[in-house]
Amino acid sequence: DTIGDNLDRTAKAYPERDALVDHATGRRWTYREFVADVDALAVGLLARGVEKGDRVGIWAPNCPEWTLTQYATAKIGAILVNINPAYRSHELEYVLTQAGISMLIAAKEFKTSDYEGMIREVRPRCGALTDVVIIGGEHWSALLDDGRKADPAALSRAQAALGADDPINIQYTSGTTGFPKGATLSHHNILNNGFFVGELCGYTEEDRICIPVPFYHCFGMVMGNLAATTHGACMVIPAPSFDPKRTLEAVQAERCTSLYGVPTMFIAELADPDFDGYDLASLRTGIMAGSPCPVEVMKQVIERMGMAEVAICYGMTETSPVSTQTRADDSVERRVSTVGRVGPHLEVKIVDPETGLTVPRGTPGELCTRGYSVMLGYWNQPEKTAEVIDAARWMHTGDVAVMDDDGYVTITGRIKDMVIRGGENIYPREIEEFLYTHPDILDAQVIGVPDAKYGEELMAWVRMRDGAEPITAEALRAFCTGRLAHFKIPRYVHVVEDFPMTVTGKIRKVEMREKAVELLD
Ligand code: ATP
Ligand code: MG
Repeated sequence: DTIGDNLDRTAKAYPERDALVDHATGRRWTYREFVADVDALAVGLLARGVEKGDRVGIWAPNCPEWTLTQYATAKIGAILVNINPAYRSHELEYVLTQAGISMLIAAKEFKTSDYEGMIREVRPRCGALTDVVIIGGEHWSALLDDGRKADPAALSRAQAALGADDPINIQYTSGTTGFPKGATLSHHNILNNGFFVGELCGYTEEDRICIPVPFYHCFGMVMGNLAATTHGACMVIPAPSFDPKRTLEAVQAERCTSLYGVPTMFIAELADPDFDGYDLASLRTGIMAGSPCPVEVMKQVIERMGMAEVAICYGMTETSPVSTQTRADDSVERRVSTVGRVGPHLEVKIVDPETGLTVPRGTPGELCTRGYSVMLGYWNQPEKTAEVIDAARWMHTGDVAVMDDDGYVTITGRIKDMVIRGGENIYPREIEEFLYTHPDILDAQVIGVPDAKYGEELMAWVRMRDGAEPITAEALRAFCTGRLAHFKIPRYVHVVEDFPMTVTGKIRKVEMREKAVELLD
């Protein structure tokens, strides 16, 4: 199946169900209306000369036009390139040239960034770029109007010429550990992943999914949009970019049954001073993913948000993204503390990164995954692809994990974040989990900093709860003493308002480590 054919089937089955709601503007589409606009846009793109395999960039925060573009490009086989809305001109130029983008669809501006101005600045240096369409501008309206007038047979022909294994999407990784890499994905990769995420969440046409995570990332466009459209569920956009109040408001106003977020988003929603005033009774499920999900936060999501069936998913952009997921019938204990079991039609193994051999159950090692979800490769970077996908098509994730006897996986950290202190391998995750149990600590992150004696020492960065005094290193150490092994007790503490983050809401430990070195100087 292709994404376009799949959407057509859903629209035929549930024409009068809501497909898309933009809470910020109140605009809404039923599946009948949604597919009509997708088709108009697709025909408009064809009429403007976009062909199968052409790269079409989308540079915008979450908005309905993003979703329309996602499905319209999929229908004609153009390769959608998701561009991070936080990018500035230098990064924009990199993506435009690296992916050879010929058409760019962009927001006019967002917050303080003047997208149009940045596009003007880089355009002379981006040879492949021949067409720029500003969302809401005259070209955008013309695309839709022309599409409505033009011959729809062109679309049927284009759609019939597609194969499920054709590349359809280039998604950049979050850039948590370095410069983002562009993963090339097929219909087969992401359509199946979206479908199985939806299956494991038990979605039907009754579900309404609140999606505050960015569309430019796989969490939004695959686990959100594709999981919804493969099941006839509704996509609800609470706001252009994450805002805890708008998110809670949208859940209440749209009677959402499912809510997504990375851990920091749920932390912000739960900490909202007006939290208790929102009626969230419609929530049944949701997904927390993207970075280690603290047990404390999961428990609160279940108890205070009423998301009894909330799942944790683990995955990465390169694997479409989800590889493992908890299921509603897993024990609560497992649902809050593991990333679940391997997804349908996928394989997962844990290997010793040195020898490549599978380690015994219960032993930490690098998680590798194989199956329909593994990307075609990094766009135009065969050497980089060969570093992560081996000859047997196993994707080496760079994440350290443990699998128990029943197949439940726990992510203990990234190979790159492991701290080696005096010969002891320490996974910061374990210490972070412990720090969350401190009543005054809202959020905690632990990193390794260079140390003359031990090679590395631990530093905890913490955010305090409202009204709490900043914690001192002595007080924090006293809290840990007797409850954590001495080598796991952070030597340094740094109290902050916020952590350095990616737009996908991940904490950039690389940046924290750089800053820490300056602090200790
Ligand atoms: P980059 O590859 O550019 O450094 P990134 O790896 O953060 O950035 P993504 O593909 O968005 O880019 O994220 C995938 C990574 O997120 C995984 O490799 C893993 O480290 C982390 N991750 C995802 N889900 C979970 C989870 N449930 N628990 C722990 N870590 C997770
Ligand atoms: Mg990565």
